[in-house]
Amino acid sequence: MFKLYNTLTKQRETFQPRDPGPVGMYTCGPTVYGAAHLGNLRTYLFADLLRRTLEFNGYVVKQVMNITDVGHLTDDADQGQDKIEESAKQAGQSAKTIARQYEQIFFDNLEKLNVKTPTKTLRATDTIDLQIALVKKLEAKKVVYRTSDGIYFDTSKFHRYGQLGGQKLSDKKAGARVVVNQEKRHPSDFAVWKFSRPGEQRQMEWASPWGVGFPGWHLECSAMSMKELGPQFEIHTGGVDHIPVHHENEIAQSETATGKSPFVRYWLHGEFLVLPKRRMGKSEGNMITLQDVTDRGIDPLAFRFLCLQTHYRQKLQFSWAALESAAEGYRNLWQHVADLGPDAKIGCAEYEQRFREAINDDLNAPQALAVLHELLKSDYPGHAKRQSVKIMDQVFGLRLDEAQPEKIAVPEVVHKLLAQREQARQAKDFARADSLRQAIAKHGFTVDDTPLGPRLRKA
Ligand code: AMP
Ligand code: ZN
Repeated sequence: MFKLYNTLTKQRETFQPRDPGPVGMYTCGPTVYGAAHLGNLRTYLFADLLRRTLEFNGYVVKQVMNITDVGHLTDDADQGQDKIEESAKQAGQSAKTIARQYEQIFFDNLEKLNVKTPTKTLRATDTIDLQIALVKKLEAKKVVYRTSDGIYFDTSKFHRYGQLGGQKLSDKKAGARVVVNQEKRHPSDFAVWKFSRPGEQRQMEWASPWGVGFPGWHLECSAMSMKELGPQFEIHTGGVDHIPVHHENEIAQSETATGKSPFVRYWLHGEFLVLPKRRMGKSEGNMITLQDVTDRGIDPLAFRFLCLQTHYRQKLQFSWAALESAAEGYRNLWQHVADLGPDAKIGCAEYEQRFREAINDDLNAPQALAVLHELLKSDYPGHAKRQSVKIMDQVFGLRLDEAQPEKIAVPEVVHKLLAQREQARQAKDFARADSLRQAIAKHGFTVDDTPLGPRLRKA
């Protein structure tokens, strides 16, 4: 039984795809106006965990992701500036240059985190025709209206509006920060097409039957997902912030356009990565990127390991101390696996079964990691353990299969210094132990103190 928590039904459901073919999965992609922060990356790690778990269960997954390179405004109520154009202006570069540059950094981040590349990625700016066609459909169904700044979807015309976020139309009040558009009929109405402002010279704008402008942000995900996965598909992912606006709007416009419901059967959302008291956000000005992690000499996969330690529906409290300790845990795990020797054909069925139960229980990765640790501590022979680690790592994605005994030549003098340092440590002469560590460092080696004893690494 493979269970997933579905935001749409607010229940844990057994995953049962409608068709025998590949499972369609759509992942809301990044807005490429800046480098992704660790919060964004947590959400893509969650989608990757889901995809890997589906594949582990024998499904073929067709994962589609968008790249938002136009139309995402600085405030979610369809007001404010286009984030890409803003960023381009500040950098004194073209919008296209900025978008491509951060798209490249994004994919580079995914690779470093061992996140599988989506089967198909589409850019918003490459699908303008599709998006215009979708607005025409909505217009034909008489669910959109015109204001001075764009074409808006009338959410009162969609009676299921609010189902995903569990709120009623009347509950939705424009927040204090939001500049209220007086011409909107309801606060929840949203733009499907925005006009370029009179006198404003936008870099990215297109002709349309309604006037020159650009698509509303929510529209691209409906257009691209349906192009690649059909009018109805299985899974849609994003962060929890997408539930009440972005995904609610996607459902409204998609189901209205096609007349088919449900647009998506399983909606899954990843909780936020937060800093003490606050979320991490580009607009909060407290963002940490993967570059900051590697600048501190921390392996990006240590961040992956950290994320696996918290269930995806729980907030992850980020701190550098937590990441450092995950990095140490990851190094120990790696070393432990390296010491297991080559794999056998047969693993430890009992642990593999418990692992499967954990991960199939709404992607309970912390529990699955606990099973991995128990396996490593068990009495099974090393080669059988290694085989099971290999199987589990198909889901963890920690590259544990690459952990091999290090063939580094350690000079005799370093061995001696290490032995002296151990003696000093045992005699609780920490000052001497520390100066010996520095002496070892001068030879290009780092000492890690692990539960299994000190270990040398090339610095
Ligand atoms: P954006 O690039 O702003 O479109 O966001 C990309 C993804 O990151 C979306 O799925 C968001 O829901 C998600 N996201 C934004 N902030 C956080 C955060 N602090 N923690 C986890 N996910 C986030
Ligand atoms: Zn989206």
